[in-house]
Amino acid sequence: MSKLKREIGQNSYMTHLICSSCGQPAAPLDWQCRNDGQPLEIADLPAFDTTKINSDDWSVWRYEAMLPVTRQVSLGEGGTPLVETSIQGMQFHAKLEYLNPTGSYKDRGTVTLLNYLLAQGVTEVIEDSSGNAGASLAAYAAAAGITARIYTPESAPVGKKRLITSFGARLVEIPGPRAATTQAILDVAKSIPYATHAWNPYFGLGQMTIAWEVWEQLGRRAPDAVVCPVGQGGLFLGFARGFKALRDAGLIERLPKLYAAQSAACDPIVRAWEQGRKASKPVTQSLTVADGIVITQPVRNQAVLAAIYESEGGALRVADGDILAAKTALNQRGLIVEPTSAVPVAALLRAKIEGTVVIPLTGSGLKTL
Ligand SMILES: [Zn+2]
Repeated sequence: MSKLKREIGQNSYMTHLICSSCGQPAAPLDWQCRNDGQPLEIADLPAFDTTKINSDDWSVWRYEAMLPVTRQVSLGEGGTPLVETSIQGMQFHAKLEYLNPTGSYKDRGTVTLLNYLLAQGVTEVIEDSSGNAGASLAAYAAAAGITARIYTPESAPVGKKRLITSFGARLVEIPGPRAATTQAILDVAKSIPYATHAWNPYFGLGQMTIAWEVWEQLGRRAPDAVVCPVGQGGLFLGFARGFKALRDAGLIERLPKLYAAQSAACDPIVRAWEQGRKASKPVTQSLTVADGIVITQPVRNQAVLAAIYESEGGALRVADGDILAAKTALNQRGLIVEPTSAVPVAALLRAKIEGTVVIPLTGSGLKTL
């Protein structure tokens, strides 16, 4: 165990990877447990401490003391606006995640993951993505001067694919459903570091900063509810873990109700929640406009469901027609979102969730025009 504990850069935190299921320690570049194939977690994360907020910084590095990685590369990720808007009489706070450096919330997690991998001496990375995570990794790899190879479904939006290659990454297009892209990368991942947003907990690390920003932007209080699109559930778990850290620090009394929003065409979490199950079962994907969240079996589905139950939230499915109507309504309010980002707004309009509601607008519509 002791050889896995390392001093990381200027932060003196001792962190290491362990299995989320059996607790077995993992090597620094492992992306899943070698014992049972389950996802890994970072052990001994620093507690949230308000006295350690770097109030001069308006990026995710405002919370650097709570992020056990050394900042070698940054593109100014995080620090996104929270703006009030209303559609059909339903008011909510929109967190404009599409204003991140590569136009999606993924940059929060990519920056912590890539800085972690750089500290491990990595010079080449691979990733599979429906587009946004790939574009994000391609940009940060370019900024870090390392090479990236991104596997995407052939059907991914052209704008996302062009963005990936514009950063100098190699694009590998895989025919068939989204799951075929993941399958294609697994062989390559045996020999090249797999910078996976779905599996690597150092991606999840940066995602927690969205909860901390929302808490500060609301005047150091939690919203009543968060409605979030869920594919792998990376951002959803970022909210869950970030708000839990605030609760553990005694800064909020209870978690906001966390609602997972999915397309009716690919809804494994909604089905599991409706049946009161602790784990989801793989579903069959059909076509949907919400191309960013077609994950038939999320890697961390048990953690997503646990967060829904613990927060007394829920899971909501919406049809493509409602997603497109919500996207149009957002556009008509000057909010530039891709269809996937309209999923939680469509869910809010259907479920009529009350109180202070926060919805992250996850991805830029400029990529899908
Ligand atoms: Zn394990």
